[in-house]
Amino acid sequence: MTVKEYPGTHTTCPYCGVGCGISINRKSHPGPSAITVRGDTQHPSNAGRLCIKGSALGETLGDRGRLLRPHLHGQATDWNTAMSFVADAFADSIRAHGPDSVAFYLSGQLLTEDYYVANKLMKGFIGTANIDTNSRLCMSSAVAGYKRAFGADAVPCCYDDLDRADLVVLTGSNAAWTHPILFQRMQAGNAKLVVIDPRASATAELADLYLGIRPGSDTALFNGLLYFLAQHQHLDNHYIQHHTSGFQEALTSARTWSLQQTALHCGVPAEKLLAFFRLFAETEKTVSFYSQGINQSGSGTDKNNAIINCHLATGRIGRVGAGPFSITGQPNAMGGREVGGLANTLAAHMEFTRDNTNRLGRFWHAPQVALTPGLKAVDMFRAVESGQIKAVWIMATNPAVSMPEAGRVAEALRNCKFVVVSDCVADTDTTRCAQVLLPATSWGEKNGTVTNAERRISRQRPFLQPPGEARHDWQIICDLAQRLGYTKAFDYSHPVEIFREHARLSGFENNGSRAFDISLLENIQRQEYDALQPVQWPVNQDNPQGCARLFNDARFFTDNRRAHFVPVTPQAPLQQTCALYPLWLNSGRMRDQWHTMTRTGRARKLLNHSEIAEIQINPQDARKYNIEEGSLIALNSAQGRMSGRATLSEAQRPGELFAPIHWSETLARDARVSALAAAVVDPHSGQPEFKQVPIQVELL
Ligand code: SF4
Repeated sequence: MTVKEYPGTHTTCPYCGVGCGISINRKSHPGPSAITVRGDTQHPSNAGRLCIKGSALGETLGDRGRLLRPHLHGQATDWNTAMSFVADAFADSIRAHGPDSVAFYLSGQLLTEDYYVANKLMKGFIGTANIDTNSRLCMSSAVAGYKRAFGADAVPCCYDDLDRADLVVLTGSNAAWTHPILFQRMQAGNAKLVVIDPRASATAELADLYLGIRPGSDTALFNGLLYFLAQHQHLDNHYIQHHTSGFQEALTSARTWSLQQTALHCGVPAEKLLAFFRLFAETEKTVSFYSQGINQSGSGTDKNNAIINCHLATGRIGRVGAGPFSITGQPNAMGGREVGGLANTLAAHMEFTRDNTNRLGRFWHAPQVALTPGLKAVDMFRAVESGQIKAVWIMATNPAVSMPEAGRVAEALRNCKFVVVSDCVADTDTTRCAQVLLPATSWGEKNGTVTNAERRISRQRPFLQPPGEARHDWQIICDLAQRLGYTKAFDYSHPVEIFREHARLSGFENNGSRAFDISLLENIQRQEYDALQPVQWPVNQDNPQGCARLFNDARFFTDNRRAHFVPVTPQAPLQQTCALYPLWLNSGRMRDQWHTMTRTGRARKLLNHSEIAEIQINPQDARKYNIEEGSLIALNSAQGRMSGRATLSEAQRPGELFAPIHWSETLARDARVSALAAAVVDPHSGQPEFKQVPIQVELL
């Protein structure tokens, strides 16, 4: 590998949505082993700190396991042959079966510029909205919750609020492992920490107060809190009256949830619940911090709104140290949302209305803008299975591992007429299903922007040259666009040109009606782009330096500019335990691994924490099934099977197990936890219910 000199490169971590800044330096000799990775002391999101995953990034570099050349039917080929094949397959399908017969499935690992051109090609030129992303699996319920409450997918808070809060309530989040740098910031401040989670996780161990609630009972808990606030005169009536609508309806829904009733339903002692309610009621500077435990549910959107309702009722939003704060999983989950990476939104946060599709048509000079939302992830792979989708392009993600009913998804891909995968990794469960493989650049080679969980746009800068014949994702997408005949609209030579267009679109006929607006960057020049400092959107005439905190003027993006309370009623999980599947399975991340381990699995020190899939089980359940510490066990559900090694843990409530998400069939047989989950989803967001899966356990 030849190494181009980029001394002192500042970039961002490619793993989680914290979006830590990283400083890259090079020792005197060339090659990936000469790279040193440190936290960027100048980056406001992490101020020099990195977690173990970020600090081990240097170990994950190098060509081993990389996809270095295009492949067609398993044989290495050249780019022209591969792309001609891809273009013919897409063009044939569109000609014979219409635009909705093709699909793109993207990833929160892509850069915003990659996402932008993929979305433009599909929704503006091919004419279908069948473009969705693995972000659907982690934060689409948070998006739907924000839209219902604020009229836009707009995250109110910033990380500074975590430093300055007096109370942080973590619900469905094991932040000590999954967002470690943010958790350090919470611990470094003065805030009391309340953790609400069925699992006594590493985060719960460090809490001032831990509520080990029954799985899925979050809506009842926050309805109970809303009712308590009303009963004990802790409402901000002025805020409710002047800046919100729908309070009485929300309170009516919450009114059945007395303290005793809520405690009983949630399975927590009433005294502990009361302690939490009092703490929340009496602490002005409260941040509610929530993640997949809330979102990955059949009623995840309602759970989001149950939390947001409590903040609106107390006026604790848009203020320093206060607000509802959903934390994204991936480095660029939010960047994807900005450019229309979700099948149900258009670019620049626009919804599917005739005005907006016309607006996009004018802006892009696009021949056929998609007029209606496309298929969300679960439905998209169902359509692949049924043959309705005949050509699918999967970019930088591994749905044959991560989707619910993963075995069925892999089978659907194997049987699909045409599957193309672009990735930096050669061998994954998903690349094994593809007819065409396209080598893409990876972290350290890619050049563009990402947006982290606090709306902060940061640069990812290259410090290595692409290995083999790898190309940037945006280049590969533009190649397809050109071959389909869309030459002028996809004639980019550098990511800054894409970013400029993206910024211009965000301000195009906006008039302050859309939250996402970075129009002040629409004339950014190459040097300015290269030097771009991390900045939080909006970046416009009103916010030339960006904006740390939204809604401090209490004006929202709804039609009446008021925030909406959403009345919510607790829902049972979409699937239930039964005699055959009597146990609940919860799943999530391990401390030292990321996604399907295609990168973190390369670093020896990250495997030390847990080398094989460890399934946590309460000792009572272990005794019942004759399971000992370290026993090899299998989990079976109506959908599939997973095996791993048992770890006995009091952190698990009896009747509830926990398994990690990272292992794949490429690493071991029956290793995918997602194979167990049914493809059932939240009706508002389409996000699958991963957190409550009925299973049985078997000693192997
Ligand atoms: Fe920061 Fe997340 Fe990367 Fe850790 S994994 S260094 S917390 S961005």
